[in-house]
Amino acid sequence: MSSAPHTPAAPAEGASKPSNFLRQIIEHDLAVGSYASRRWAGTPGDAAHHASAPHDPARIRTRFPPEPNGYLHVGHAKSICLNFGLARDYGGVCHLRFDDTNPEKEDTEYVDSIIDAVKWLGFDWNGAPDAAPYQASDYFDFMYRAAEALIERGQAYVDEQSPEEMRANRGDFSKPGIDSPFRSRTPAENLARFRQMRDGQLPDGAAVLRARIAMDSPNINLRDPAIYRIKHATHHATGDQWCIYPMYTFAHPIEDALENITHSICTLEFEDQRPFYDWLLERLIEAGLLAAPAPHQYEFARLNLSYVITSKRKLAQLVNEGKVSGWDDPRMPTIVGLRRRGYTPQSIQLFAERIGVTKSDSWIDYGTLEGCLREDLEAKAYRGMAVLDPVKLVLTNWDEVMGAGHLEPCTLPALPHVPEGQPEPAARQFTVGKEVWIEREDFEEVPPKGYKRLFPGNKVRLKGAYVIECTGCVRDAEGRVTEVQAMLIPDTKSGTPGADSVKAKAAITWVGVADGVPAEIRLYDRLFSDAQPDAGGKDFLASLNPNSLKVVSGFVEPSLAQAKPDQKFQFERHGYFVADRADHAPAKPVFNRAVGLKDSWGK
Ligand code: ATP
Ligand code: MG
Repeated sequence: MSSAPHTPAAPAEGASKPSNFLRQIIEHDLAVGSYASRRWAGTPGDAAHHASAPHDPARIRTRFPPEPNGYLHVGHAKSICLNFGLARDYGGVCHLRFDDTNPEKEDTEYVDSIIDAVKWLGFDWNGAPDAAPYQASDYFDFMYRAAEALIERGQAYVDEQSPEEMRANRGDFSKPGIDSPFRSRTPAENLARFRQMRDGQLPDGAAVLRARIAMDSPNINLRDPAIYRIKHATHHATGDQWCIYPMYTFAHPIEDALENITHSICTLEFEDQRPFYDWLLERLIEAGLLAAPAPHQYEFARLNLSYVITSKRKLAQLVNEGKVSGWDDPRMPTIVGLRRRGYTPQSIQLFAERIGVTKSDSWIDYGTLEGCLREDLEAKAYRGMAVLDPVKLVLTNWDEVMGAGHLEPCTLPALPHVPEGQPEPAARQFTVGKEVWIEREDFEEVPPKGYKRLFPGNKVRLKGAYVIECTGCVRDAEGRVTEVQAMLIPDTKSGTPGADSVKAKAAITWVGVADGVPAEIRLYDRLFSDAQPDAGGKDFLASLNPNSLKVVSGFVEPSLAQAKPDQKFQFERHGYFVADRADHAPAKPVFNRAVGLKDSWGK
């Protein structure tokens, strides 16, 4: 555990952000000083650890507590932006804590990926940029001590009913529970038995430690919940030190309290757990083990995004069954997938802010996420031309008017509007020659009504270059157009005095045959064709979209081939693209379509 000094930032932004119920709670707590008396010894710890420490310099403490059992997804991103954002805005600290109390499902691969994801989203934790994350397994000693304290105070007992008996005796919504025959054991008997559990004398499942609350509580979570179970398993951090492990409902409030968390924010399904959260912390404060005031749990609605599944288990299934290429497949809603797809941290933060937090479940349209990316990239992404469905255009009079083999240099700005205070980026350089690549759809021998691009007799501008007049095309034996032909109209080059002397009906994008670079371009679409792929227990694999990835061979202008991996561009007219993090190289460019120019999700 690290003990980094922390100077909280002024809560400058807090007030200017759109309010929500959590902000109102925090503002109220700050105004009345609900947590002003807390002390902080610099590291997590019990009441004695914090007792003589200075007042906590963090005005609030929140936490993001992932289980290291999978890759984080867009739903976690909402929780990250929320918890880290609130701490940032109110002069607080957000803790990154691995909730690694379950020995079986966890892995250091996931630990590393979670650390990367949180950093990439733009946050640091635990009060210092290079602080180590906290981990719940560091608190196992304390949790054990807390369990013994409850036993000694008659507030917990070892139950040796079979799991079936325990389930049957718990009752249900209409039926109160029935006391276990083990419920009346004395503290001394319970203590001895619990120590036998700890010492490995009982097999898995033979006994559990239960809180002793009330078997007739209307809240089933208060009917003597299990708080420790036997599990002879090796833990990724503590090895074989323990063969009993705390249950999540017992561990989580304690983790929060040891870390001085003030606002413990979780998703709605934990609402029914809150009474136990409060019960447990009150008991441990009474016992003198934890410092008051206790943290408080608040619930918000989890993110449901249309066309997306956010269950770790189901995402793992997509990976394991080879439905996608891996956790970072650009179609995956994982943070590594979104990143590879071309999402920016800013766009995800903007998304989290825009959807806000509420207390009732709803579905967010995928278009909202895409809109945030477009909004972020619009001002930042350099422009470039790419031809995704190429057909060759030959300027039949080129040799005559420009000279055989001549390549005419052209230039266009990297950004149409340079944001204020930012240096103007270098302009793009490329050449036009006798042959250029154009989009197949930009030529029609017999134009449909209103068609403004290339057809015999029509004039268009090659963007950034000359006006040309279409003369016809060449077809192969099957009738497919293999070459479009046009005449160059001299002295009409963009940026020269003659540029406007001839009117063009349209400007089309193109890439020179001489300096265009062949590129692999991956066009992604939604992974599922059903807007709620797994709602109501549906088989989500049944709605996998077979056309969610289309790979095309196109051509890109020279400036695009020079892209650095991860660099984003607007391919004019096609949308926003990113140079693939894994596969792009200047000699073999690979781009992913991040998002089109317009919203297509509503349709
Ligand atoms: P698991 O089924 O493995 O428990 P989980 O999605 O709950 O999966 P955790 O690692 O426990 O994963 O989640 C860490 C935090 O992220 C929790 O506080 C949880 O509330 C939050 N979180 C998870 N999914 C979402 C979601 N879809 N929207 C908002 N927050 C989420
Ligand atoms: Mg969970």
